[in-house]
Order: sequence, then structure tokens, then C-alpha cells
Amino acid sequence: MIKIKAPQDIEEMKIAGSLSKAALRRAGALVRPGATTAEIDAAVEGFIRLHRGVPTFKGYGGFPGSICASRNEEVVHGIPSPSVVLQEGDIISIDTGATKAGWVGDNAWTFYVGSVSEEAKALCECTRDCLEAGIAQAVPGNHLGDIGAAVQELAEGNGYGVVRDYVGHGVGRIMHEEPSVPNYGRRKHGVKLQVGMVIAIEPMIVMGSYDTTVLPNRWTVVTRDGGWAAHYENTLAITAGGPVILTEDSEGPWCPMQGGY
Ligand code: MG
Repeated sequence: MIKIKAPQDIEEMKIAGSLSKAALRRAGALVRPGATTAEIDAAVEGFIRLHRGVPTFKGYGGFPGSICASRNEEVVHGIPSPSVVLQEGDIISIDTGATKAGWVGDNAWTFYVGSVSEEAKALCECTRDCLEAGIAQAVPGNHLGDIGAAVQELAEGNGYGVVRDYVGHGVGRIMHEEPSVPNYGRRKHGVKLQVGMVIAIEPMIVMGSYDTTVLPNRWTVVTRDGGWAAHYENTLAITAGGPVILTEDSEGPWCPMQGGY
């Protein structure tokens, strides 16, 4: 069942949303060659708790980290570790979730580690544009298929693959609510979007085939062919006035593309 949020709920959700974006920004500031994903994880957990939030991912289904940190051919759900040392030229998707005042905010950004190849930049810029294109379709009366189609057309039009095995989702008092929000689809198909729905749109776009597999650690999702992946995410509410991004802090809903700023 899709839970419709009242205007007051949506206002309250901005508290968790702004904290999750601020945490993501904090993570991005620590991205540099030589940093470990465990360091970034610890800093983000401390930041969220300092602001009286709870890191939503920690312990979720047994997940050990407060962030997901997914590098290069890793798509999502990478486990932060002291043995993952970022290297110049890597791209790293960091996903942060914060629970505060009874609601969840969920967002992700793929950062550059130092300077990255033109090929990697193009993948990241296209994936970010896919997120923007998906959000633009999140208006009452459209369907979930309009969001998926907008993402898919832009990604495939640029020669990239769209991951099928993982999708966006409804967000509320828990992180994963109905509906599923695929990054592929047909216009005018799927659930009709209504005022008060809150969803996370999170395109996962790859350089090669969209087939994925999960590493033996049971969490980290990688592309089967080793092609690199990018991942961007915002949580937003569907309102009569259009999409309202809830994962927005005082600096806005986006992060700079590079890390270490
Ligand atoms: Mg999500």
C-alpha cells in the first residue's frame, strides 16, 4: 500500500532530508586519494548523531555501515572498510540516509576521487542528468513509467545501460516503502502519481551491460562485466506545485561533482 503524506508530514520530512543531504556533503568533503571508506563512514555517522539523527542504514537488514560506498564497478550497497583506500581516478557513489523526527531522508551522489577520466565524468554527468529528468516527471497525473522512461531514454540515448535489479522506492517513516520506482519503463504505464506520495528516485547507470551480481559479502552489488557504474539519488514529494526535493539543505539539493571540496 502506498502511504500518502499530509502537507504537515512532508514539512516534517524536510528535517531528515536536510540532515541526509548535509551528511552526504560532509562525505563528499572527505573524498580524496588515500581516504578510506571506513573513515568517511565514521565521519558521517558522527555527523548524523551530532545533529540528533540516526544513520538509517546502520543495522538495516544487518548492514554494518552508516553509508553505502560503492566504487567504480560497484553499483550500490558497498560496505565501508578500512581496506578500501580511494585512488586517484576512482568514482565513488556514497549513499547516506538519516532518520530524524520520525521520518527518513535518503540520498546518494557519485563523487570524483581527484581527477577522473573523461569517460567516467561523462557517465556521472549523464546519470546526474537522468536523476534530474526523472524528477521532472514526478508530477501529479503522470505515471511511474514516465519517470522510468525519462531516465531510460536519456541513459540509453547516450549509450549506457540501466540497472534493472535495483530500483528507487517510496520513503516515509521507514526507508523502503511502496511503490518501487524503476529507472526504466513505458510512458503512461504503472502507478499513477498522486499529491502526497514521497519517493526516492535513484538511477544506477552503467557503461556496459546492466547485469549485476552480489559479492560474497552478501551486500556489494557489482556489474557482471566490470563496467563502471554511477548512482545519484534524491527523496522528493509529489505536490500540486510539482516535485519538491526533501533531501535539500541550505546549499540546495545537489552536491558539487568532485569530491574533496
Ligand atoms: Mg534509496
